[in-house]
Amino acid sequence: MIAVLKHGTTPDQTQHLVSWLKTMNLDVHISEGQEITVLGLIGDTSRVDMDLLKSLEIVETVKRVSEPFKQANRKFHPNDTIIEVGDVRIGGGYFAVIAGPCSVESEEQIIEVATAVKASGAHILRGGAFKPRTSPYAFQGMKGEGIKLLLEAKKSTGLPIITEIMNIRDLPLFEDVDIIQVGARNMQNFDLLKELGKIKKPVLLKRGLANTLQELLMSAEYIMSEGNEQVILCERGIRTFETYTRNTLDVSAVCALHELSHLPVVVDPSHATGKAKMVPSMAVAATAAGADGIMVEVHNNPACALCDGAQSLTPAQFDELNLRIQKVREAIA
Ligand code: PEP
Ligand code: MN
Repeated sequence: MIAVLKHGTTPDQTQHLVSWLKTMNLDVHISEGQEITVLGLIGDTSRVDMDLLKSLEIVETVKRVSEPFKQANRKFHPNDTIIEVGDVRIGGGYFAVIAGPCSVESEEQIIEVATAVKASGAHILRGGAFKPRTSPYAFQGMKGEGIKLLLEAKKSTGLPIITEIMNIRDLPLFEDVDIIQVGARNMQNFDLLKELGKIKKPVLLKRGLANTLQELLMSAEYIMSEGNEQVILCERGIRTFETYTRNTLDVSAVCALHELSHLPVVVDPSHATGKAKMVPSMAVAATAAGADGIMVEVHNNPACALCDGAQSLTPAQFDELNLRIQKVREAIA
């Protein structure tokens, strides 16, 4: 971190600031020019309050020269992290297809979809039991009952399951869930993230609707700094001025996150577009960009889905998508 001091700062004021910075276990390199003095802060600056430093009367500007995320940072962990769930691996060249309905609606529905997506080659079954809905009057999910049905689908197909947690008090219900999802709306629910950092289970962390990649990585850092290193990042589209699609899929996030971090990156083209018709193309684009997996909503009867029917593929459309994905994977190998 670099702090530029204002013109006219006295040597006493500089020394006073340097002594204070040193109390934070930092080494300070002072470079005095004719006009300004520049302080180079060396050491772990992740705990330095940049805004506080900036607000000091003698400080002109403060700039970070290294990222504030450490454990998620590729600089300190050059090799790709590979997450394992049962026989499935994600990251470091292993590609996972996650598919299933937006929400678990009934035993018949989840078993039918699970059987179909498995036959098409999906590796992991998704299904929401706790649903974060914009309207309190919309279907809120089957909650604990939904998780039980997912576990039945897991038993009958052998597919590992992923489902979203909204409140940490529900954690006991997730004991046999293979991957816990943190939804976009909870990406910065820091108490939830810290608690998920204390468990030994992979967490799929979705990018918030209006969050930067650095904020996503700082949220991953919350989980990792508590001891859980099994984090999967998920790009699911962000809010922009465009309204034609539900969100705007940031495909470049795949490359940027791979550059910045060693964690696997999965793309969800369903919530990104909101339109089933666009989902296959965006899934293919994400695969071509080097994503470590995709997460796609599939429903046996999209027109009657209780949630997100418009963006759900039919099992037949999903089957076709899988063949395209395989071709792209071979082409970029
Ligand atoms: C979901 O995956 O079911 C979901 C609610 O997605 P998001 O958090 O990305 O909106
Ligand atoms: Mn959904």
